[in-house]
Amino acid sequence: MHLSAALSRIAPSQTTAMTDRATQLREEGRDIISLSVGEPDFATPPHVIAAAKAALDAGDTKYTPVGGTSRLKQAAALHFARDLGIAVPPSRVTVSAGGKQAIFHAMLATVSEGAEVIVPAPWWVSYPEIIRFAGGEVVPLLTHAKNNFRFTAADLEAQIGPRTQWLLLNSPGNPTGACYPADLLLGLGEVLRRHPRVLVLSDDIYAPINYTGAPHVTLANLCPDLADRILTVSGVSKSHAMTGFRIGVAAGPEWLIQAMERLQSHSSGNPCSISQAAAVAAFEGPQDFLAGWCERFRARRDLVVAAINAIPGLRTPTPDGAFYCMVDATPLMARFGDDRKLALHLLEHGVAIVPASAFGGSGGFRISFAADEVKLEEACRRIAGAVT
Ligand code: GLU
Repeated sequence: MHLSAALSRIAPSQTTAMTDRATQLREEGRDIISLSVGEPDFATPPHVIAAAKAALDAGDTKYTPVGGTSRLKQAAALHFARDLGIAVPPSRVTVSAGGKQAIFHAMLATVSEGAEVIVPAPWWVSYPEIIRFAGGEVVPLLTHAKNNFRFTAADLEAQIGPRTQWLLLNSPGNPTGACYPADLLLGLGEVLRRHPRVLVLSDDIYAPINYTGAPHVTLANLCPDLADRILTVSGVSKSHAMTGFRIGVAAGPEWLIQAMERLQSHSSGNPCSISQAAAVAAFEGPQDFLAGWCERFRARRDLVVAAINAIPGLRTPTPDGAFYCMVDATPLMARFGDDRKLALHLLEHGVAIVPASAFGGSGGFRISFAADEVKLEEACRRIAGAVT
């Protein structure tokens, strides 16, 4: 083993590890319902598939510019303006192999040894690992179910120090479903104005999946004076059920976009040419199905929240957005030891979930409810059978 110091600082992604394990068990003939990965089960829209096929037939199978075709950069700029209210020229947009790669490159391109990155916790599994890989230090900003997993401007101010380089925002949030309303974001904007060195990464990948009734809001739109230090990350994976296409987009200051593309020119090179053509169709094509998908997610959320809260020892708040429930199983910890052991126990009973400790939490687990109702009902039945 000759692992680098950087790799030694990080663990494998537990969302993907649990999903791979569930797939392996299924291939061995076991009946496993996987609610571990956040992946819409809906079919990718037909016009997107048609665009991918047309790109293949047209011979779009060669290199493209590293940061994406100018066609896709224009389509992404349209998406940022129309869906997030962020007006950017294509020169301030870049395309990567999924939002994850955009975040990875942004951190690797900017974070030096010892720099601090403030991350609201519970967090998405890859945020802290990416920061640590880059040499940065993770500063958790703890949030709690009783506050809808949201922090305040004062909480943020208390964490900012001389080494703070980035604040990470994720609304709607994975794994909590937290949605930051406009007044909270405006308050954060005031704090950030007092700390002009702090950059913000706003991960808006779940923007269309919001059950609050209020429109999605984002910092770069609400505080345009701060836009030159905000990187907004979005994509088509969650909105258009295109996880396998691996297309993420990011909008930010030109120096940062160029830095990310410099890194990308030596890592993956351009994102898949066929996927890029499909993403153009996703951004430019009809968007009216999104509201219907969101309603289906809401019905599934309500089903899972009711079923989980009926199981003794389990409790989940009702998430405001995204498609995850963060289930508290603290009363069961004396029996199971810790949430990883509980996750393995549930896997034995045919349900794959991800333990809360993967997200910087403890004593619980995350359920992805981006699966059909029949599967969700059966999964909740199995969970009830496994813990009661
Ligand atoms: N973001 C999704 C999740 O949390 C996809 C898997 C991953 O990349 O972590 O399940």
